[in-house]
Amino acid sequence: MSKHVVILGAGYAGLRALHELQKGNSELKITLVDQNDYHFEATDIHEVAAGIQTSERITYPIKDVVKSACTTFVQGRVEKIDSENQLVHLKDQEAISYDYLIVALGYESESFGIPGVEEFSLKMVDIPTSEKVYQHLTEQMKAYKETKDENCLKIVVCGAGFTGIELLGSLHEGKKKLAEIAGVEPEKIQLYCVEAVTRLLPMFSEKLGGYGIDHLKKWGVNFLVGKPIKEIKQDTVVYLDNAETNELNELQAKTIIWTTGVSGSHVVGDSGFAAKRGRVMVNPDLTDADHNNVYIIGDCSAVMDKESNRPYPTTAQISLKMGEHAGKNIKAQLKGEATKEFTFKSLGSVASIGNSHAFGEVGKIEVKGYPASVIKKAIMDRSLFETGGIKEMLAKGRFDFYR
Ligand code: NAD
Repeated sequence: MSKHVVILGAGYAGLRALHELQKGNSELKITLVDQNDYHFEATDIHEVAAGIQTSERITYPIKDVVKSACTTFVQGRVEKIDSENQLVHLKDQEAISYDYLIVALGYESESFGIPGVEEFSLKMVDIPTSEKVYQHLTEQMKAYKETKDENCLKIVVCGAGFTGIELLGSLHEGKKKLAEIAGVEPEKIQLYCVEAVTRLLPMFSEKLGGYGIDHLKKWGVNFLVGKPIKEIKQDTVVYLDNAETNELNELQAKTIIWTTGVSGSHVVGDSGFAAKRGRVMVNPDLTDADHNNVYIIGDCSAVMDKESNRPYPTTAQISLKMGEHAGKNIKAQLKGEATKEFTFKSLGSVASIGNSHAFGEVGKIEVKGYPASVIKKAIMDRSLFETGGIKEMLAKGRFDFYR
């Protein structure tokens, strides 16, 4: 009898696994589950939040990549995984049983328990939350026209990680359009970034990270570094201004966007897997420690990097590799062969600062400026190709390489 593989999540990891499993195995029955009927490019959502890209541009329908001969797509919200009975429970739908399970449920915004984050700041983790950020921004611009309250023109990005930096670059580019709504010059819109640590972007050399930060500073972004955020209140960021005296200070703004890091999906921990911040330390072959038919991949997964003795950081690149690997290992298991250990060599990472600037590392080579932005677009196109194939890459890829 044909075996049933269920894939939870149609992000980078889930769709890459789907492609691997759909390749030449007619015996297999696959079910793909996602709460949305579209895939979105999670690395590009800051552009939607800043209003410089529409959500259509960074999404495509899941049905486009599903081969109906072997795969069924179920749009539904996963509530719990019952690994003992090999069942996936969905909200208001029948449970799905599986022989093999791939958990690729992605990430969630992490508040670290800081008071007021949920109530008074905007998340930016998916399409609806990114669209909400842009909608909120346009409302503030309209409000400024009425009230002339300068705080309507202030935007605070909380956290200067990859997400925060890329968002600031896009917000700078989005200023022109926002300023038109408010009826002001773009310079009147003020961008702030509040960051806990002083050594920004630790994955890069100080010089390279400094290049990106300096670029944003030249564009007028105000950085408050070494200032951990302690609370978010209505239109107010409260941060520790002096660690020695414990003195707090406040920054007022009508738009506060929370980008201080992410955790894996809460469903994983809720289902009894040994998760820390939603991430499970998996076996070297990407299976769960207690279930050799359950693969946990992408942002829900933690795999040790033997070189650094720390888990690999979560990126789209590693998620794609994990998806491919999990698919191959399931195929091996079906043939009665041994699974293989996951190994990963990062090709490097590049952060965009707007459409035609970027900085980062490709292999061991540091890249910056316009050439880096071309590399960044090539990376985006490649990941589109890996999840969506040639059709989606041609339709939604970035080919605007010319300035
Ligand atoms: P992150 O953890 O990389 O960065 C969060 C930042 O917020 C850190 O600098 C941290 O010091 C700061 N911070 C945390 N708590 C704070 C507080 N209370 N007050 C002020 N600052 C605080 O998170 P991210 O930027 O969301 O990225 C998540 C993952 O996704 C990372 O692994 C990142 O590398 C990856 N990512 C990669 C790309 C890319 O490759 N282009 C783009 C986006 C995200």
